[in-house]
Amino acid sequence: MKEAITRFAPSPTGYIHIGNVRSAIYPYLVARQTGGKMILRIEDTDRTRYVEGATELIEDTLKWLGLEWDEGPLVGGPNGPYFQSERTDLYIKWAKKLIDSGRAYADPTPSEKIEEYRAKCNAEKKPFLYRNFRPENPPAWEPGMPIRFKSEPKAYSWTDAVMGEMHTGPEVLDDIILIKADGFPTYNFAHIVDDTEMGVTHVMRGVEYLSSTPNYLAIYEALGLERPVFVSLPHILAPQGNKKLGKRDGAKSVTEYREDGVLPEAMLNYLACLGWNDGTEQEIYTKQDLIEKFSLDRIQSSGARYDETKLLWMNGQWIRKIATEQGIEALYDRTVNFWPEAAASYSEDYRKAVLTIIYDRLKTLSDLRNMTAYFFADPQIDLDMLISNKYLKKLSEAEIETLLKQTIAALSEVTDWSADSIQETLNQLLVSTGKKPAELFSLIRIAISFAPFSPALNLTMATLGREVTMARLNKVARAI
Ligand code: GLU
Repeated sequence: MKEAITRFAPSPTGYIHIGNVRSAIYPYLVARQTGGKMILRIEDTDRTRYVEGATELIEDTLKWLGLEWDEGPLVGGPNGPYFQSERTDLYIKWAKKLIDSGRAYADPTPSEKIEEYRAKCNAEKKPFLYRNFRPENPPAWEPGMPIRFKSEPKAYSWTDAVMGEMHTGPEVLDDIILIKADGFPTYNFAHIVDDTEMGVTHVMRGVEYLSSTPNYLAIYEALGLERPVFVSLPHILAPQGNKKLGKRDGAKSVTEYREDGVLPEAMLNYLACLGWNDGTEQEIYTKQDLIEKFSLDRIQSSGARYDETKLLWMNGQWIRKIATEQGIEALYDRTVNFWPEAAASYSEDYRKAVLTIIYDRLKTLSDLRNMTAYFFADPQIDLDMLISNKYLKKLSEAEIETLLKQTIAALSEVTDWSADSIQETLNQLLVSTGKKPAELFSLIRIAISFAPFSPALNLTMATLGREVTMARLNKVARAI
């Protein structure tokens, strides 16, 4: 493919939906794959939905995901400004061009009148098309007056890179608004002006814009412009049912996932594969893999179902991948904000030792908060948890106490408190007490952690250190 100019054109409404991000990933991949460019354009002309700080959130999220843009806010470029609200003169200029060629008109019709037309059509059970009511002698345009496109009813055919061959009849063409009364353009018009001015070759966006495409084609035609490649991205569906994923369907915003300790690599990987695959069984893709393997013709045309469990599974895979390929230091650097508060008074080396033995159980980095609490503070003794454990409930309290004392005695003999020596002593203890591993090891694990899970017992004990381990065992032996 020759160098593609793509764009990500979000509206700064404050909340970054999973689907919004996927609409940034695919244009990014196409731009990188072809040696082209990705433009970031902020579509902020709907002032009622504008949220302060939303642009920074978008920039920050893209940077976090590693989706650098080549032109746009912060980086600039030859086609700026990249905020639509700063380009209003341009839209007016283009709209006037259409007025001059007889393909647009100023429309002073008050909204009550338009509602009357609509009601009339409803009453007659006819579709409401504004072109049937357009003013016969429109006035000269003045600021404050909407400008409408003057449509010509005709059939259109086009190819969508994902949805295939499309055909529509004249009934979908109408006199859409180009410039609103407030002087701002509609999305319908502004994106065409911008995509043209910015040299965009591939218009990649959600499939919700597919039904409006004939009206866009009419504008391209009226302006004598070449059509770009249209790429409609399928809906992301809720985990259940056949509806679009919404805020209420359990999907968090990208910001929330980030705060929970989902890694950007995993988010990128998961979202890129939500509605695209390369036809193989591969599931884990680096950004570089995606750039190499992505292709428009393998984007699926049906909706892609959102599956948070899969995202979290993938995050676990990425946590392990980073630890094994880049080392525990590299993973540790990502964990700074995710430790329990009490961890702050421990050394980095100790935290790294904890991470080393626990990372392969993490689904998100914030799991560290719950899963490592007992490494940084003595757990509350919960005798109920101990005696109701499924392996221990067969034992009497006296037996438990004896077993703990035997354990303490045996561990006091360990000389070098390494994971190997501890394991050796535990093995001997199994023989001398005649207990099953599940019984003995559950007892020790609960007594030192009072947590539902822990890493391998000998590693946990070695990391906690002799003093802490022995003190906790003694305390439980006394409490029982
Ligand atoms: N501003 C539109 C939105 O956020 C973008 C659509 C497009 O990419 O053209 O939905």
